[in-house]
Amino acid sequence: MAVENAVPGGEAKNNKRVLVVGAGIAGLAAALRMHQQNWDVVVVERAQSRRSSGYLVNLHGPGFDAAQRLGLLPRLTPRDIGLYTSILVHADGREKFTIPAAVAQAAVGNRALSLFRGDLESALYDTVAEVADIRFGTTVQAVTQDTDDVWIWATWLERSRSRTPPHTYPQVRARPSSDPGARPRS
Ligand SMILES: Cc1cc2nc3c(=O)[nH]c(=O)nc-3n(C[C@H](O)[C@H](O)[C@H](O)COP(=O)(O)OP(=O)(O)OC[C@H]3O[C@@H](n4cnc5c(N)ncnc54)[C@H](O)[C@@H]3O)c2cc1C
Repeated sequence: MAVENAVPGGEAKNNKRVLVVGAGIAGLAAALRMHQQNWDVVVVERAQSRRSSGYLVNLHGPGFDAAQRLGLLPRLTPRDIGLYTSILVHADGREKFTIPAAVAQAAVGNRALSLFRGDLESALYDTVAEVADIRFGTTVQAVTQDTDDVWIWATWLERSRSRTPPHTYPQVRARPSSDPGARPRS
């Protein structure tokens, strides 16, 4: 499988550079929020490519608020399948009880989205890929620092590890350690 990296061109815009480990829902959401707070973001994901599978995810309450803060609603709203009637069944298939769609609607109100996880991942990935450097097949090997910089040592994971040793190289240079709040963390 091809390594699928999204690397926007150009040098880092400022000194606030952060590394996010993991391009799941949480990592991509964190990356987007950090970008919105004016950080240059690098995301490393040890999987060789995106994992866009999954079933339903309901966003309401704080989940809906978070999607709105992240600016994702224009991308997510067209993918909303709407609230639905849920039927819980016993192991043998007999119905246990039913939650009608109208009851779910009354419980969560209009600030709700029912999405396939893949659609949520795609909305996040497509947004983050426009603004951050996303490196698949990569993980953090070590974090070191000297008086001026913090260095993240990342390992590029070969698909066949037994044949080719990992390649190690410095990936992220952060601002001077005199500003501890700006140091990237693994
Ligand atoms: C394929 C899939 C399908 C899912 N389907 C559903 C669903 O249908 N409904 C539902 O409600 N929930 C589903 N979930 C669960 C839901 O998406 C997660 O529980 C929730 O989004 C939390 O995601 P996360 O980003 O915290 O963790 P994860 O999705 O596990 O993401 C963490 C990421 O970090 C990467 N990572 C971990 N360690 C390292 C490292 N050292 N270096 C580099 N990368 C690293 C992992 O490879 C992974 O991609 C699914 C999860 C997955 C992965």
